[in-house]
Amino acid sequence: MSESNSKSSLRPRFCPQCGAALVTGYDGERERRGCRHCGWIYDPSPIVEVIAVIEHSDGRIVRLHDDQMPLPHDQLRWGEAPDEAAVRVAAMATGLRLSDPRFLGFIQTRDTSDADCFVLTFCYVLQSEGQPPMVAGAELARLREMPQRAGERERYALDAYRAWLDRH
Ligand SMILES: [Zn+2]
Repeated sequence: MSESNSKSSLRPRFCPQCGAALVTGYDGERERRGCRHCGWIYDPSPIVEVIAVIEHSDGRIVRLHDDQMPLPHDQLRWGEAPDEAAVRVAAMATGLRLSDPRFLGFIQTRDTSDADCFVLTFCYVLQSEGQPPMVAGAELARLREMPQRAGERERYALDAYRAWLDRH
């Protein structure tokens, strides 16, 4: 069974309060799954992930060789603080020693494999220490050299990083 199938099978089809079939509708603000009869709303648990913008001392940042996902990212582990996760994720993707994670902001997006689920992404900027002996698949790039085709979360992280630079 694929991941998306197993997730979809967890999605309730009937209202736990009155038993009516659930529908996906627009509540005036956003799309939600819920019950037209009694008003019960299905709130899925978010997938929580972190994205890391890794800043080198010369002002360049780490770009991964993936135009959709040019920044290191991964899901949060149980018991892990988001800033710890950012350091782990960034170190795993690059082999760099990293310090000083600073929170840039967060974004909620739809899960591409299940429209009822959503992803909560915490974005951090980190400093790389020393010269990078970086792994294959990662390089240093100017902010303007980051790919235009980056995904929604990556674009948000880069915009939040730009705003952070303006304040520092
Ligand atoms: Zn109901």
